[in-house]
Order: sequence, then C-alpha cells, then structure tokens
Amino acid sequence: NRIVAGSLRVEDAENDISLRPKWIDEYIGQDKVKRKLNIFIRAAKERREPLDHVLLYGPPGLGKTTLANIIANEMGVNIRVTSGPAIERPGDLASILTNLAEDDVLFIDEIHRLNRSVEEILYPAMEDFALDIIIGKGPSARSVRLDLSKFTLIGATTRAGLLTSPLRDRFGVILNLDLYDMEDLMKIIERSAGILNIKIESKGALEIAKRSRGTPRIANRLLKRVRDYAQVVEDGIITEEVAKSALKMLEIDELGLDNVDKKIILTMIENFCGGPVGLDTISAATGEEKTTIEDVYEPYLLQIGFINRTPRGRIVTKKAYAHFNIPYDEE
Ligand code: ADP
Repeated sequence: NRIVAGSLRVEDAENDISLRPKWIDEYIGQDKVKRKLNIFIRAAKERREPLDHVLLYGPPGLGKTTLANIIANEMGVNIRVTSGPAIERPGDLASILTNLAEDDVLFIDEIHRLNRSVEEILYPAMEDFALDIIIGKGPSARSVRLDLSKFTLIGATTRAGLLTSPLRDRFGVILNLDLYDMEDLMKIIERSAGILNIKIESKGALEIAKRSRGTPRIANRLLKRVRDYAQVVEDGIITEEVAKSALKMLEIDELGLDNVDKKIILTMIENFCGGPVGLDTISAATGEEKTTIEDVYEPYLLQIGFINRTPRGRIVTKKAYAHFNIPYDEE
C-alpha cells in the first residue's frame, strides 16, 4: 500500500480518465512501440480489416490499458475491457465474445491469470473467430461451432513469459513497454499538470520525475500529492524547493525506493555479501514472491543501476552500497 506502488490504487481512478492520452500522438515516450503500432494500424485500416491480436507486456502503471484504448480509438472501433481474474468460467468469456461487434477490440488485462478452461475458448476465437460449444452430455454430446464477429484481442501482462505458449503464439503483434526515462516522465508530469491546472516549474517536474520509478502512474499520483502541499503550505506553484519539501514530508526516498526495494538490497548485502545470488534465494530470504521481484522491483533497480544481472545471479552495485551508506569492499 505504498505511494510509490506501480499498481492501481483507489485514489488514481478519479483522474485516470482525464489524464489518459486518447490518441497515439499524445502518448509520450515508447517510441519504438508507437512506430510499430502506427504502421500496423494504418495497414489494417487500408485493408479494412481488424488489427491483428496484440500482446502488451511490461510492469504495472506503464500505460498498457491506455494504449489499448488508443488502439481502439485510432481504429475507430469500440473497446470492451475485462481482466483475466474477472472471467471465471468459459461461459463468461463465451458471452463476452458473442456480444462483440465486427472489428471491436477486446482488452483483457492480466491475461496470464485466465484459467485453463477459459483460455482454451480463446484459441479458436483468436484463430478462426469461432466458438466451439459442447451440446449434451455423455455419448450423445456433440460439438457445435459458432461464428463470431472478427475482433482484435489486446492482452496485457507484466511479462510475456507468464503466458502459456499456445496463447502467446496466437498474438500477431507482441510489444514490450519499458520504464520511462527522466525526460519522458517530465513531459508526462507537465502534460498532466496542464490538464489539472497545476502550475509547475520544470525543476519541480524533475524532482517528481526522479521519484516516479520510471512509471507514469506513480508520476501522476505524486504530482497530485505535491499539488496539495503547494496549495496549502506554499503559494500554489510547484517549484524545485516546493517539490523537495513536499516529497520529504511524504517520506518518499530521493529515488522513489520503498521498503521492499530496501529489504531486497539489504538482504543481498547482509546475507549474501552483495551476491551473486539467485532469484529463488532472494525470494526465500525476503519472503517476496519471485514473480513480484522480477516484474515489479527488479526492473527499476536495474534501471537505476543498483543491481546487475550476471550469469551466476544478481549482484548489488557500488552505487547501491553508497546510497545506503554501507562501506563497499573492493575485494
Ligand atoms: P497499465 O495498464 O500499464 O497498468 P495505465 O494504462 O493504466 O497502465 O496507465 C497509468 C496512468 O499513466 C494512466 O492513467 C495514464 O494517464 C498515464 N500514462 C501511461 N502511459 C502514458 C504515456 N505514455 N503518456 C502519458 N500518460 C501516460
């Protein structure tokens, strides 16, 4: 429940809609992804066909849901939004699929969490736009094939490797979203400030960007909390100084690190002399799920150069020792 969590929190919802870019040109950063999508969207539109199925993967809060909405907008079609855990039975998915109109987008967030029997409904749906249903029971049971409207499935997940290979193989377009750099985060913060009528100086935006863990959702959340401080304690303008005092009051580490990041790094230093140490061992020693470490914590620790991945495991870098004021033994 930390303010620097990339996952969605209740407080995010109110502004998520207004802050969400609607067109690909408003979507900041991720240039490689945008370039590919622009081409695929244009080609599909010229052929008057739905876009091929798209898999988006990357840590929480990087803009996968936003991008799915943008794709539907750019294609000029409707989007139906659901998530892996929300679809419990094959019948639930069958009813969603039969209700899609021609060329619609179906967005399934956390698609790796679909259960097996539901996932199997998707295979013929994705491949042949067909639904296989079993009628009757026992020896008289027979399978009937129903035609579906052509549609585009957009799946989102934290890591492509979490999907079973039959599901992954059915996506024509697989796109990886990376953590954002400081420059893009500043643009996102300044854009959101404009929409929310917040006055911010670029050095103020930089202070927020530094603590946003490469994640737009966190950047927007911190912006809103700093705005409150600027409004009540200062004269409303977010300058470098105002941002610094606000973030200090919120007890946000200068690099946006939270307790779990600290626990991971300190465990690696104290119990394993800084590594190399394997992911399984880190997971056992910290009590954090292996996939959570890999998908949520590690990408940012790698980005800021606090850990390195080597063939023998993860190691803590000199930079991380310095940050936590722990003497680094060159040996
Ligand atoms: P995900 O689905 O990957 O968890 P979202 O699409 O919900 O992430 O994005 C979280 C928030 O971050 C959105 O409300 C949106 O306002 C903002 N956001 C994400 N990506 C961008 C971007 N490239 N440019 C501007 N804002 C973005």
